[in-house]
Amino acid sequence: MNVLIKKEALSQKVSEIGKQINDDYKNKNPILVGVLKGAFVFLADLLREIEVPIEIDFLSISSYNGKKSSGVVRLTNDLSLNIENRDVILIEDIVDTGRTISYIINNLKTRKPRSLVVCTLLNKKDDRIVEVPLTYIGFDVPSVFVVGYGLDYLNKYRNLKYIGVINGK
Ligand code: 5GP
Repeated sequence: MNVLIKKEALSQKVSEIGKQINDDYKNKNPILVGVLKGAFVFLADLLREIEVPIEIDFLSISSYNGKKSSGVVRLTNDLSLNIENRDVILIEDIVDTGRTISYIINNLKTRKPRSLVVCTLLNKKDDRIVEVPLTYIGFDVPSVFVVGYGLDYLNKYRNLKYIGVINGK
């Protein structure tokens, strides 16, 4: 496994993003919506850097099968909270083609949140097919398949403390 982003760099960046959210959401009560499964580690670390009152919720999406995106996005588990008139921060592990996050944005917008922004740990901007506005970005990464810190390959490697690239893949 090659280490792409070390654990210390991840925690430094997560704390910086938390500070930006604290500044941007003063006197607000945002809902952090984690996109499962990949974003759960990032969300768990990020929310402890946030000092404004927050609520959290999750949704699940299926689109990937191993390393290849099927291109077809499906909501497999919906939110439990009502987001109408709420400030929503979507928490994603990685934005690649942009198809998944744009599907989620379009779906959530129909529920009339007051605001809706995206916070992604990783951004593979060279692979973008659908343009999506990203308000908070942790790291730009090259167009390679990454694992760790919540991200999997065939459901493994989510428990790595760092972001890595599997040798020979
Ligand atoms: P998109 O729809 O933007 O192409 O893909 C977004 C989703 O694909 C992410 O939420 C993630 O689940 C998965 N994905 C994209 N690139 C990678 C990668 O390099 N590693 C892993 N583990 N998942 C990826």
